[in-house]
Amino acid sequence: MKDKSLIEERIKAIRATLPQGVTLIAVSKYHPAEAIEAAYSAGQRDFGESKAQDLAAKHKLLPPDIKWHFIGHLQSNKIKYIAPFVHLIHSIDSYRLLEEVNKHGAKNSRRIPCLLQIHIAQEETKFGFAPAECMKMLDEGKWRELEYIEINGLMCMASNTDDKKQIANEFAAVQQLFKEIKERHFASKNNFSIISAGMSDDYPIAIEHGSTHIRIGSSIFAG
Ligand SMILES: *Cc1c(COP(=O)(O)O)cnc(C)c1O
Repeated sequence: MKDKSLIEERIKAIRATLPQGVTLIAVSKYHPAEAIEAAYSAGQRDFGESKAQDLAAKHKLLPPDIKWHFIGHLQSNKIKYIAPFVHLIHSIDSYRLLEEVNKHGAKNSRRIPCLLQIHIAQEETKFGFAPAECMKMLDEGKWRELEYIEINGLMCMASNTDDKKQIANEFAAVQQLFKEIKERHFASKNNFSIISAGMSDDYPIAIEHGSTHIRIGSSIFAG
């Protein structure tokens, strides 16, 4: 693990560059509890994990005021580990998964905050709804019957490329989709307000295109 002061410095340096209203999520996957504690002591409270069991284990070990974000591909049989306390699930990639999360929300008597993951990158390997598919799912309206989830916005990952123009175009497309969805389905809902976009290498571009939540891992925790 990197020493504590280095993690603290990095957190503070990133924070200092962020416009008001942008939330920094420190992506602590693969890093031990001590690394999270170092970030915590720099005032960081939002952390992201991509494996449900890891997230649950760290939740048990670490201070209760941490907001845990789930950012990985979520399998239905793993929802139970995070459902009681997760702050936000960023990675809803099918209607079926939304229904499954809803069941776990009911079991825990809580509405679970969720984002719809949009597949925007060129890579085949990334998960998520195609933009048209997402709109179709929302237009169909069955999700309105799900009382134990709350759809608070969109999440995306840009292509892994050095082509900044392409990355910008992808983030811009998600921002446009967000606006259309907001107008059509959430115009009166204040909590539909989140665009989770941008990682260590591309977050300044994401912020230029409306990102409200950036997910930063290696720039904080890596060697
Ligand atoms: C790992 C991960 C991140 C953080 O990526 P870095 O490049 O390390 O900042 C962000 N989002 C998701 C979905 C991830 O899996």
